[in-house]
Formats: sequence, C-alpha cells, structure tokens
Amino acid sequence: MIADKARLIHARKIERVSGCRLSDRAFHGNMLEALNGEVNLDLLDGRTRDQILAFLEDFVRCGCKKSPHCGCPERRFARTLLELREEGLDHRQISQTLAGEYGIEIFPADILSYLEESVHLLEAVTEIAALKGRKALAEKAAVHIEAIER
Ligand SMILES: [Zn+2]
Repeated sequence: MIADKARLIHARKIERVSGCRLSDRAFHGNMLEALNGEVNLDLLDGRTRDQILAFLEDFVRCGCKKSPHCGCPERRFARTLLELREEGLDHRQISQTLAGEYGIEIFPADILSYLEESVHLLEAVTEIAALKGRKALAEKAAVHIEAIER
C-alpha cells in the first residue's frame, strides 16, 4: 500500500511529546492513535502543529466507529496522490507538496511507481468495463488514465 511508504518528518518530536515509542510511518496504527488522542499537540512548535492538524483533518478524521483503524486514512492518502497528479503536479512536486502541507516524507520514486500501477489498474478496468458493456465506466476510467499520464 502506498500509505506504508509515507513517513512523518516530525515523528521523533511527536514521540518525545507523547512519551511512547512510535513508528515514523505516518499511517502506522500507533502513530494515528497517538495523534488522534494521546498527544498534546500544544506541546509542539507552531509549524509542526499546523502540519499535524492538516494531516488529521485531511486524512485521519472520519465518522467511522473503528477510526482511525477503518482504512479511511490510507484510502484518502492514496486518493490525494491521484488528485494532485490530476491537478498537474508531477511526482517530485507531489512529494514537495506533501512535505510542506503535512510534514509527510515520501520519495518521488515511490509516488511514480504508484501512479504507474494506478494507470495499469485503470487500463484493466477500462478493458473489463468495455467487455461487460459498461460504457460509462470505461469512459470514466479512460479520462483518469489520460489525466494521470499527461
Ligand atoms: Zn473511517
């Protein structure tokens, strides 16, 4: 999963504030739980806090009972990568954007392979949808392929 490749730049700072050992993986269960509750974010410096709050708001907070273990955070992250690409950012710019907005570190090469995998999946969707006569779905997938590949 692409979310597994995302690390939090401020993981060590958050670990100090929380007092427990944390993975530096942004979407690791411990980290999500700590950020979603135990950690007093006011103890972090302003810039770090802003990035963590944006991270929680855009990826973590949802209405599910099992939150943050419901899969929403990982799915929203994967979707955000595709959205940023469709807005015209390349894999390097996406990496920079995530670092600036959320303090997330993810290598451009990992983003690039994720985008390529997504295109392959969408190509499979297009073919199967066409075979099954689901024209609207095939067209939708084709639009996304074009937006990712341009
Ligand atoms: Zn959820």
